[in-house]
Amino acid sequence: MPSVVTHAYVGRFAPSPTGPLHAGSLVAALASWLDAQAQGGQWLVRLEDVDTTRCLPGMDTLILQQLSACGLHSDVPPVWQSQRGGLYQQALNQMIEKGLAYPCTCSRKAIEAVRHLQGQTNPRHGELIYPGTCRPRFDNPPRTLEKARPAGCAWRLRTDALTTSPLIHWHDRRLGSQQQNVSEAVGDFVLKRADGCFTYQLAVVVDDAALGITDVVRGEDLADNTARQIMLQQALGLPTSRYRHTPLVMGLNGEKLSKQNGAPSLDTRQPQAVLAALHQAARVLGLSAVTGNATDALTAWVVQWKSLCASFKC
Ligand code: GLU
Ligand code: ZN
Repeated sequence: MPSVVTHAYVGRFAPSPTGPLHAGSLVAALASWLDAQAQGGQWLVRLEDVDTTRCLPGMDTLILQQLSACGLHSDVPPVWQSQRGGLYQQALNQMIEKGLAYPCTCSRKAIEAVRHLQGQTNPRHGELIYPGTCRPRFDNPPRTLEKARPAGCAWRLRTDALTTSPLIHWHDRRLGSQQQNVSEAVGDFVLKRADGCFTYQLAVVVDDAALGITDVVRGEDLADNTARQIMLQQALGLPTSRYRHTPLVMGLNGEKLSKQNGAPSLDTRQPQAVLAALHQAARVLGLSAVTGNATDALTAWVVQWKSLCASFKC
């Protein structure tokens, strides 16, 4: 029988195939790869195509090609979230059985109306804080599994039931001590949408655990999701990952470079372009320029990364 290899460090890069890799996403890819190498760990690529409505055909292949051209190869075959719905449903069922998840039939309009009545009209990052309209009483949790429910309802996590306090504390390896009161800042958040799509929060947490990920290294724009993800890990009895959020690349307009604001695709057709892109990403991470080809550069940056981490004790 093959023995199961467990690694002390498993990292990942988890792009959504909604567009090609760009200068900003390369920073996160490079940082997660360097961190895994520096710790003698494993690194894998997970394609986050759980929301199929946002994905563009062929982008997964393109991203994998771009990573490969940059010398960033997944140690195990890449995984696609769209093929892992069974795992997400199992996790949701587990939370329903524990009375931690409940069905919600509120429309956006209905949520807006309640928030308005409460005098709270400001959406947070475009998301409305859910006022708890469908949250069941503690003495009457919905233990019936989803099969028995009418189709077309969303499922939410109750953020008031998990720990003694919904205040989640964590240590970010770059940003330091962090905290968020999930109930107040976000409210009971969606695990599965009414259209049947599992949400990013649920899929990330289930996959990070299923793939044995110990360390999440990703862009700072995602830091705000961390408390929700730790809360979900607690709800599912999963270990808490270590987190490090990397600096963002700003565009000329002063906004974060992103697919949404038209960041150009990384040009990986010529080795010189690859080397230049890697150098730009390395600079954002506080690493200095090195000589040689991309392979030489990556090797030198692993050494630099180690001493950077040692000096910051992270
Ligand atoms: N798929 C997410 C994104 O591309 C990243 C998820 C993560 O690293 O947790 O923004
Ligand atoms: Zn509701």
